[in-house]
Amino acid sequence: MTARTLNLDDSLYQYLLDVSLRETPLLKRLRDETQAMPMARWQVAPEQGQFLALLVKLIGAKRLLEVGTFTGYSALCLAAALPEDGSLICCDMPGDYNDIAERYWQEAGLDARIDLRLAPALQTLGQIDKPEHFDLIFIDADKANYPSYLEHALRLLRVGGLAIFDNTLWSGRVLETNPESTDTRAIQALNLALKNDARVDLSLLPLGDGLTLCRKR
Ligand code: CA
Repeated sequence: MTARTLNLDDSLYQYLLDVSLRETPLLKRLRDETQAMPMARWQVAPEQGQFLALLVKLIGAKRLLEVGTFTGYSALCLAAALPEDGSLICCDMPGDYNDIAERYWQEAGLDARIDLRLAPALQTLGQIDKPEHFDLIFIDADKANYPSYLEHALRLLRVGGLAIFDNTLWSGRVLETNPESTDTRAIQALNLALKNDARVDLSLLPLGDGLTLCRKR
């Protein structure tokens, strides 16, 4: 009997990928190209991308929002799972990675579904005047603003919609007491606040670096 989540060692993790990862050659190429960049750790794990795509289909999501896009791997997973009339707004800062994202979206034939907005995400989110419009919001940007992103997500999501936060286990740094890092403190604050937030149903999955699912009540 299993009383707690399994600890994945390298070989078991590899097995998980071997028997379940259905990464397309295009996604693999994007992942490899991103891996060579200094900020490669900003990219989601491939099994996370596949899980996000499954969630889109599970809840029949059509209107998606992503906060933190980088080279576009998760956005590509999300957009590919959308129906023909679905759309995805991506928020990120201007950077040399924007072109990589757009190049791969184009190659996948999904660029028409994706609207990349380059500005501080809080600014972009503040300008979206569509309360209860979105079905799913994936948040994987600057951690210090996670608590603010939660408030925007709850404003912008429909009832039953999902807000998903990445890195909520933060390589274990969430265990630190009085951390100096504002990122670590913000993730801790978000996790603690969500525990008793009556506005959402909640699950923190130990997938990748920790993925928190919040369903708006
Ligand atoms: Ca991340």
